[in-house]
Amino acid sequence: MNLLVCAACGRRLSEPLRLLPALPERPEYDGRKGPDGRRHAPSTVPRGTYAIDPEPSGAPYVPHPDPEWLGAAIPGLSIADPDGPGSLMSAGPCDTLVVHPEDTDKLLEPNPASFTEAVCCGPLGMEGPNRLCPGCGAEVATLLADCVGPYEIHFLPDAVRVVPDTA
Ligand SMILES: [Zn+2]
Ligand SMILES: [Zn+2]
Repeated sequence: MNLLVCAACGRRLSEPLRLLPALPERPEYDGRKGPDGRRHAPSTVPRGTYAIDPEPSGAPYVPHPDPEWLGAAIPGLSIADPDGPGSLMSAGPCDTLVVHPEDTDKLLEPNPASFTEAVCCGPLGMEGPNRLCPGCGAEVATLLADCVGPYEIHFLPDAVRVVPDTA
């Protein structure tokens, strides 16, 4: 098993995790509340695992060069460009590390800079990483937890290190 630790200060940021060979298919939101009482889809990755997302993920969101493009800015969610004719796409990093929120969120701190984000049932991270390392305050991850979009925490690949769990 591995742990995710902050690349800047070494603080442990996850429960013990096993790497999946690929990112699982994202489950549909079934309209029910999660175990935490909030409305969101089931987690993309099972408890105790993580996976690498090869696609660009998270902020910044920029207009797609093709105004006819109708792809998803956030997995499963197309977002119209408020300033133009087309849709937004993620220009965030590839290879983010996707973790079950219950395996990590209690070890992170909300980013006060993201409290201005307009949310429906939960955050989508449109304004950038909404989770900080409690040890040093570095922006480390983005929680996606709305009824639209997936239920995932994405760690920035440069903000964390994967280390063996020696405990
Ligand atoms: Zn919602
Ligand atoms: Zn840190």
